[in-house]
Amino acid sequence: MTKENVLVLIDCQCDFIDDPKNPGSLAVKGAYEDMQRIAQFIKEKNPSDIILTLDTHNKMDIALSSWWLDAQGCNVKPFTPISLDDVVSGKYRSTIDSLQTYSEYYVSQLEVQGNKSLFIWPDHCIKGTLGHEVHPIIVQAVKDWELMNNKKAQYVEKGQNPYTENFSVFKAEVELVKYPETLLNVDLINKIDQFNTKYFAGEAKSHCVADSTIDFLKNINNPSSVVILENCMSDVPGFNSDKFMEFVKEKGCVIENVIESKKLRM
Ligand SMILES: [Zn+2]
Repeated sequence: MTKENVLVLIDCQCDFIDDPKNPGSLAVKGAYEDMQRIAQFIKEKNPSDIILTLDTHNKMDIALSSWWLDAQGCNVKPFTPISLDDVVSGKYRSTIDSLQTYSEYYVSQLEVQGNKSLFIWPDHCIKGTLGHEVHPIIVQAVKDWELMNNKKAQYVEKGQNPYTENFSVFKAEVELVKYPETLLNVDLINKIDQFNTKYFAGEAKSHCVADSTIDFLKNINNPSSVVILENCMSDVPGFNSDKFMEFVKEKGCVIENVIESKKLRM
């Protein structure tokens, strides 16, 4: 039996939000206003179900500074790309000798799979920190929705495995057979796919929203049941989501914007 509609909120966590009072460590320009529009959407649309994904890291993670050293023995700075050549030449190496071979394998896999380098991010969404929490604007909207409907939103953590990245909630960047949580999450895809309409929103459009939505679309039969809430997501500064938007348009997804109601603006 199909259900009406589901709102999939990707990583609406404090570390990604450019909250003027308390910007996150990896704040996405425009995200604070996106959160307001998402809250308005929840209130007005009252979706049948809400699923929230949570980017979740520990301090030691292959895409964070703690994992990597430069030739001087200093931790690699955030926003540094690391290519296979960089690792092979010794420009960058793992902080832990026993992880060097694996680190080289990981970076080589990224190049083989998508011809891209590893990118080192500022520490963000570290489990247990305030930055890992869902932003208060969304927390309030979801609490109101739960009360009104006597339902529970579902929270799905992703990215806990330090050996691979998890931009997509549905599978890791490099899937590792040894760790089942890094493989394609067919159960979650099927769970979302049983709804007639699936709304996608959250942060960041250029990364976790794009990769999650693309993985979802590659594994379902009816892409026109997916709605991209385009003004409820923003790009990481310096990146764009042109390829993502081309992909969803080609697939036949619906692209919508939330019309802002003035009284909700803060
Ligand atoms: Zn992350």
